[in-house]
Amino acid sequence: MGRKFFVGGNWKCNGTTEEVKKIVATLNDGKVASQDVVEVVVSPPFVFLPLVQSLLRPDFHVAAQNCWVKKGGAFTGEVSAEILVNLGIPWVIVGHSERRALLGESNEFVGDKVAYALSQGLKVIACVGETLEQREAGSTVDIVAAQTRAIAERISDWKNVVIAYEPVWAIGTGKVATPSQAQEVHFELRKWLKENVSAEVSESTRIIYGGSVNGANSKELAAQPDLDGFLVGGASLKPEFVDIINSAT
Ligand code: PGA
Repeated sequence: MGRKFFVGGNWKCNGTTEEVKKIVATLNDGKVASQDVVEVVVSPPFVFLPLVQSLLRPDFHVAAQNCWVKKGGAFTGEVSAEILVNLGIPWVIVGHSERRALLGESNEFVGDKVAYALSQGLKVIACVGETLEQREAGSTVDIVAAQTRAIAERISDWKNVVIAYEPVWAIGTGKVATPSQAQEVHFELRKWLKENVSAEVSESTRIIYGGSVNGANSKELAAQPDLDGFLVGGASLKPEFVDIINSAT
């Protein structure tokens, strides 16, 4: 079964209203393949979600960068899955390494979030990835498998999940994984899904790469057989995001 190429733009904690309007205008003018070929999702900070959604071309969609782990209520400062659904936000990014590292989100907590977001009807971009220290210790596959396992133990339907493999050492550093480094981990993750979930889930789940992807390196990465797209940080704020989308074709 073909896996549709997926390109996500993670704007992180950036942007003013004017800047956001400018990025959206650039995206709206971009010439890209149809949504039958590539699925494009951009993720502005929460407060800009309605604005972006109202201005963005209809073939691109929006994602929140996070959501609360369970039903909303007395959780000051949080945004629940229910709120996102109410606003018509289709996607949410969960378990980004910045949140795992800076906000102490554990594998289990991330797994709970994925499960709750899915239960409310959101589609999830679930992030996994090893630190440089873990890579140098030879534990990359164990780390990403443990992060994936914590999700697998909590969900049964993978159709609305995209896995983003984002090595921490490659995020925002300009040190992109080589195509073979990325392919190796994507292959291992797919194998893990086959052995621990099912052959069908392994075959159909998109595994996208993130970490210093740009317009110059995306084409070669996109050619790797187990790489089904990208989660892009810095370059998603620039016109070259359109080139990255076009690396699908
Ligand atoms: P980067 O970030 O493209 O700026 O390295 C990727 C991410 O954190 O999703």
